[in-house]
Amino acid sequence: MKCDLCGSRIETTFLNKPVGTYVKNEKGKKKLVCSHCQRSGRIKEVKQ
Ligand SMILES: [Zn+2]
Repeated sequence: MKCDLCGSRIETTFLNKPVGTYVKNEKGKKKLVCSHCQRSGRIKEVKQ
């Protein structure tokens, strides 16, 4: 899986869940954001 902002690889846990956060944008589409983009504040770009 890849981060929808920076495109870096996101690891998955043993339960096959991505180590990142799903964010819904205004169109209701799910985007996957890595922890780095969350901390840097780029997560806001997804919601636009
Ligand atoms: Zn990222």
